[in-house]
Parts: sequence; C-alpha cells; structure tokens
Amino acid sequence: MQQNNADLQTLRHSASHIMASAVLELFPGTKLGIGPAIEDGFYYDFDLPVKISEADLEKIEKKMQEIIDADYKFICQELSKEEAIKLFKQKNEIYKLALLDDIQEEKVTIYIHNNFVDLCRGPHVESTGKVKYFKLLSISGAYWRGDERNPQLTRIYGTAFFTKQELEEYLYRLEEAKKRDHRKLGRDLELFEIFEDEFGSGLVFWLPKGALVRKIIEDYLRDYHIKKGYKLVYTPHIAKTNLWEISGHLKFYSEYMFSPMDVEGQKYIIKPMNCPGHILIYKSKIRSYRELPLKFFELGTVYRYERSGVLHGLMRVRGFTQDDAHIFTTLDNLQEDIVSLLDTVVEVLTKFGFKEYEIKISTRPQKYIGDLQHWELAENSLKTALEKKNLKYEIDPGEGVFYGPKIDLKIKDAIGRLWQCSTIQVDFNLPERFDIKYRDKDGKDKYVVMIHRALLGSLERFFAVLIENYAGNLPLWLSPIQVIVLPISEKFNEYAEKVNKEFLENNIRSEIDNTDATLQYRIRNAITKKIPFLVILGEKEQRNNTISVRRYSENTTEVYNIKEFIEKLTKLEVNK
Ligand SMILES: [Zn+2]
Ligand SMILES: [Zn+2]
Repeated sequence: MQQNNADLQTLRHSASHIMASAVLELFPGTKLGIGPAIEDGFYYDFDLPVKISEADLEKIEKKMQEIIDADYKFICQELSKEEAIKLFKQKNEIYKLALLDDIQEEKVTIYIHNNFVDLCRGPHVESTGKVKYFKLLSISGAYWRGDERNPQLTRIYGTAFFTKQELEEYLYRLEEAKKRDHRKLGRDLELFEIFEDEFGSGLVFWLPKGALVRKIIEDYLRDYHIKKGYKLVYTPHIAKTNLWEISGHLKFYSEYMFSPMDVEGQKYIIKPMNCPGHILIYKSKIRSYRELPLKFFELGTVYRYERSGVLHGLMRVRGFTQDDAHIFTTLDNLQEDIVSLLDTVVEVLTKFGFKEYEIKISTRPQKYIGDLQHWELAENSLKTALEKKNLKYEIDPGEGVFYGPKIDLKIKDAIGRLWQCSTIQVDFNLPERFDIKYRDKDGKDKYVVMIHRALLGSLERFFAVLIENYAGNLPLWLSPIQVIVLPISEKFNEYAEKVNKEFLENNIRSEIDNTDATLQYRIRNAITKKIPFLVILGEKEQRNNTISVRRYSENTTEVYNIKEFIEKLTKLEVNK
C-alpha cells in the first residue's frame, strides 16, 4: 500500500480529532483549541478544567482506542457561519468562536464522529477505525495563538502511522534521540556549557575537551581548504553600519541583527554574516580574470538575534562560527566551480562519517533580481554539476532566495534523522551592490558572480550533530582523550608516567588517572567519559615492559608492547 505525505497528514489530523473527543469524554468541561497535523505527528490544544500530566496519557490512549474500535464515521456537514456560531456558543467553545470570528466565508464545515463536533476544513479518514497505529508522546504548555498575553492551554502531542513497523521505528528513533541529546552528553562529557538566562542565552562556552575537538576540526578544515586552493582570511567582528547598508542587510535582515553600538559618535554593528568582509578583501585591489575563481575561506564567527523561544542547545544559538567561504567567479566557469565544490562537500562530510545525503535545488522565486537568462544558466549549472557527480537531488521550485539559486544538502545521521549542513548559494545581488568586478581579457571591467558556501554550516551545530550521531563516542581522530592510562596501584605510577609520556610524544592524546579511587571505579569513570582506549598497568606489564589495552565497551583485554600499540593507533588515523 503506497501512501503519500498528504494521506499521512490526513491520518494524523484525524487522530487529533479522536484524541480531542477522548479528552472531552474524560475531562468534561474541556474547551478545544486547534489540532493540526505536524511534521512528525499531531497535537491538540486544550483548555482543561484540571491539570493533567504525562501519567494521564495512557488513560487518554485507552479511551482513544475505544473510539477507534467503535469505528465511527467522520461526517462532514456544511453550515452557515451563523449556524456554526450558534452551535459553538451552545457548547461554550470560546476558542472555536474566536476562530469563526476570523473566517470570512459564509459557509463553514464541521466534522462529526460519534457525538464529537469540530470546526474543521478537513480532510479526514473515512472512519475512526482507520487510525490503527498511534501513540501519545508528551504534554506541554502553549499560549492560545502563540501569544503570551493569551491564556495558556495544554498541548498534547502524539503521532500516528499507517503501519505498526513505521510507528515502532519512529518510537525507537525518539528513544534513541533522547539518549543522544547533545545537551545532556555535552554536560556529561564536559564538552560545552551555556549559561542560559543568567549570562546570556544561546551563547556557547567551549570547555577544554570540547575546545580540543573544535581545534582538531578547525585544523583539519584550514589545512584542507589551503590544499584546495582557498585563501585564508580573517575579518573583524564589528564594522560601521554603512557596510550593512550597502550589503542590504540593514534593510532585509535587521530583525536578526543586534542593535548598533556607539563608537566615538559613529554606529557600529556586530556582524551577522561574513560576506561583506570578504567582499572588501576582494576589492582591496583590481582583480584580473586570471585570478578567478578566487576563493576566500574563514572560520567566521557571527552573531544573530534569535528569539529565546527558538534557541536549542548548540543547534540554534546566538553566536556561532561558520566554515564560510566565498567564491568569486564568472557565469562561464560556474558549472566547473560547482562540480569542484561538490567534490569538496562530499570529501569533507565523508571524513566526518556522513555518507548519505538529501539534496535540494531551490530555483527562481516570483520576485527576483538579475537577468532571467543568468538565472537559467546558473540553475542549469547546479543541476548539471549534481548530475555529473551522480548525486541525486530534488527541485524545490520557486524556493530560492531573491538573489540566486542554491543547493541545500542535508546529512542523514545514525538514526535516520536529517540535518541541514551544506549550502551552496549563487548570488547575483551583492556583486552589483558592492560593484565587484574583474578586469577581463578585453580590458573591460565586468561583474563577478559570487558563490556563498558553508560545508558543515556552523561549528556549533555540526558539533551537536556529531555528538548525537555518535552518541558521544566520537571517532578516534576527534576524541579529545584517546587513551587513558590507569596504573592499578601507586606502585606503578612511575611506569604510568613513562607510558603516558611515550604516547604524548607520538601525538596521541593521553592522560593518566592515578587518583586514589579503586581501579574498578576509575575504569567505570573512563567508560562513562567514552574514552576509546584504556591502558591498564600492573606488575606484569611493568616487568615485561608491555601494556594491557581495553577498548571502550569491549570486555576483552589485549597485551601490546608500546611501540606496537602506537603503530596500531596511528594506523587507525589518530593524527588525521
Ligand atoms: Zn479536522
Ligand atoms: Zn556569504
């Protein structure tokens, strides 16, 4: 049975009606808000006469099951708006009346199953019995119409699927996602801290271990880009407002920018993007066609005014560092540039272990700037480049930004979730705004085409994806501590120092734990910290000049001489 997305939405929305009728039966006097299908399920908002908790979900599910088993038909009726107002007044459904107030049409539809009535456009499944596999998930508060001046309602989330297997897989993923939550792991593994309201929401403090991982990623990225012909640049974190006037950000992007600050009577703004800075570097001298494509790379830290409601761990923050590059090129060379960019994207993401992607091209929207012909050429360049690289893609027609088409790439993680990472954005707008030109063969100055691109997106967000993908067990080359040396008693401290030194000299990130705690405790601690290798040293090891090595989460122990083990680790790409 092939079901499409619209069918799934209908199923889930129908489940929300069933849930609402169950809640009404269990808690008479409840007033109904709205109950839409959402990305992974559905919700319904209620004004309940009593306070309920997640413990009540089972009871509601049971009642829903009764309603499903009774297999009531979903019946649609058309009413005049007046009739509908009368009906919901009788039921004292104040929120439905408020919704009716906003409806312009003369006629509205209501949907009925059993004795439950809802104001709704539909569609729904045929009868309640069609909703077979569902689960209620959580409860939260939600203001009516999302406005904190309105009453707070109780939102119950649930999900529904066409098959038992799909539901079970989803619930498994949900459970896994909880265990992998980077906010929890970030604290357990001492990677980062956010001090929330106290010292600034959405601002990340990288603790030593997290900072070490970041340094490894940064080193890799800088070296990689230099090898690929990018020029490293650095640009200031603040600049005078006129830069953002020319770029258009003050006009089109100001809601995400922090207010200007006063410097000697002049207005300065903290940067939300790196592009204008790179453009100024491009314009620092006359550029010849021979220099193109010219590629600037910066691990550029930007600040954006995100509302506190959308902040989420490292995923959505107010200050973050992009692996940002701008490529100055020509339309003629665009396709070649994109092909080489795609190589770069795949190579870098594969390095971090991500090999499955979902790719979309967003094409020209209704309102756009630039020549139609240029748009078509650019869109074709994106398509042809993806085809040349055998990368599957979909097209999001009309979803491009007004200044150029783009490729968005999502990576698939270990539990099948998709994360937006890489973006390749063609830009016809900034070259004109900043008058960015190159001197062509014929001696004439012509506009460049700009490409904005980030591979990982932001280091903060990508770090969160890494933590969640690997459930904190980072690949060896990214582990902040690769080896922990554990002498079984203080008698072997000296030997432990010697072994540790040997590791450090061979660029292996090693630490000793010779604290007073029992060996068992220290082993457990190293395992909680997800350190890949535990090196245990006692009498026998010291006598034979060997080490006993236990791999994280494996119960076997192997004996090596140090040189042997170092070689093994190095082969495992320790120093990549
Ligand atoms: Zn409905
Ligand atoms: Zn840019």
